[in-house]
Amino acid sequence: MEQITVTSPLLPDLGEFTDMLKDIWAKKWITNNGEYHRRLEGALAEYLKVPYVSLFTNGTLPLITALQALRITGEVITSPYSFVATTHSLWWNGIKPVFVDIDPATGNIDPDKIEAAITPKTTAIMPVHVYGKPCDTERIQAIADKYGLKVIYDAAHAFGVEVNGQSILRAGDMSTLSFHATKVYNTIEGGALVMHDAKTKQRIDYLKNFGFAGETEVVAPGINSKMDEVRSAYGLLALRQVDEAIEARHQAAIRYREALRGVDGVTFFDDMPGVRHNYSYFPIFIDADKFGMTRDELYFKMREANVLGRRYFYPLISEFTTYRGLPSAAKENLPVAHRMADTVICLPMHHALTNEDIERVINLIK
Ligand SMILES: *Cc1c(COP(=O)(O)O)cnc(C)c1O
Repeated sequence: MEQITVTSPLLPDLGEFTDMLKDIWAKKWITNNGEYHRRLEGALAEYLKVPYVSLFTNGTLPLITALQALRITGEVITSPYSFVATTHSLWWNGIKPVFVDIDPATGNIDPDKIEAAITPKTTAIMPVHVYGKPCDTERIQAIADKYGLKVIYDAAHAFGVEVNGQSILRAGDMSTLSFHATKVYNTIEGGALVMHDAKTKQRIDYLKNFGFAGETEVVAPGINSKMDEVRSAYGLLALRQVDEAIEARHQAAIRYREALRGVDGVTFFDDMPGVRHNYSYFPIFIDADKFGMTRDELYFKMREANVLGRRYFYPLISEFTTYRGLPSAAKENLPVAHRMADTVICLPMHHALTNEDIERVINLIK
């Protein structure tokens, strides 16, 4: 049986890409805020319905750079149920992560538990819109305002997600995106920071270019994270296909839900009212007693049948050697996150799944 992978990159048309490459070759401008870079920033701002976008070489450096730009220090409250880059960005800034448990209804940081984790050293909250499901941004902002904290959203999963017609990327002080090959929208490797005003955009553009504010002036110890012209061109073409890709994912999600609803011991998320989802992942949660098999037993059975799910997010970030000694990493502090991490499998979910692929996955689980 042919292999079914958990994801598959959204590849632009090779002919159109070649035409753009010829243009780039002719212009001999291959990086440093070139025409394609500027065009992609504009196109993304329009598509995402946000005022400003700054492109990066991946989705990790925008997290690190946002923390730098906002001069975040001390302690930052975050979720252990994410990809490890979220917490690594704090470590790279010498910030102590403080893990807070998640809400079982969404997998996102539980707003009810944030206040108890605030100390005089807390300067910011870094929530994650996990699987692209929007956090409770209003409640998080209310807490941030009450205690004078910044909010940086890791929105790596939330490309194109809207709540009541408004981009989720408008929440907080800044939001970061990843355009890695495995994501809904990709530039092979790439990412972006989304901000709300021109001054912040300017500051970020300095920081991602070594801090250069002009030919001879360096205003900060910046990093190098400029997206090049080749990937920007790829991104322009991929953007034309992303709506269709999201719709294909939506259809797959509908079919999965139809077939798995009522299977004993299998639960999953439904769409949230008023939300435009991007169907970036399709996590299911296995209750071993009811299902008759543990999550890992199912996971390895699927692998034997050449169906590659992924245990996103297992282990929790708080379990990795760098972080497990932190007081907030204690298992008793994070019961919901542990339960989800121990029971989750993300099913194959991408734009190119065929109906036969989907039925194969469903039959295997049933
Ligand atoms: C993918 C991802 C990142 C990192 O993005 P890269 O582009 O791979 O550096 C950060 N946070 C989350 C939640 C992610 O899924």
